[in-house]
Amino acid sequence: MNIRIGNGYDIHRLVGDRPLILGGVNIPHSLGLLGHSDADVLTHAIMDAMLGALSLGDIGHYFPPTDPQWAGADSLVLLNSVHQLIRDQGWQIGNVDSVVVAERPKLKPHIKLMRDKLAGVLQLQPDQIGIKATTNEKLGPVGREEGISAYAVVLLFKD
Ligand code: MG
Repeated sequence: MNIRIGNGYDIHRLVGDRPLILGGVNIPHSLGLLGHSDADVLTHAIMDAMLGALSLGDIGHYFPPTDPQWAGADSLVLLNSVHQLIRDQGWQIGNVDSVVVAERPKLKPHIKLMRDKLAGVLQLQPDQIGIKATTNEKLGPVGREEGISAYAVVLLFKD
């Protein structure tokens, strides 16, 4: 079969002394995401979807949080590696769709730049990258602003 689909999920904790980076964009906010890398939860969900489509495991396998090499890593660099991995196996991305769940800040003003950045790394047109933002209606840990989560699906194809 020459099409595959994958899905990815990630969540990171919000803390006071970190930048908030989503889709490679540094978003002004009083809180940021805690993690070994830059904790870009959206990019992580997309990478896991790409790997999942080919049953290649998850990002923790390729970039273990115990490895000092990935401390503070730019997730767009990691995304580029994952993209190379799927290309090496002859696969291309058809499209990506994703949801970021965050109570605050308002993400809408930043979504175009996120799509442009992700499209740049993945060598796609921005209209092949869907990013939606929603709140969690103040419910649960995301609703209490303890974290931000993201979901992604990716379609891969082979000519
Ligand atoms: Mg993560």
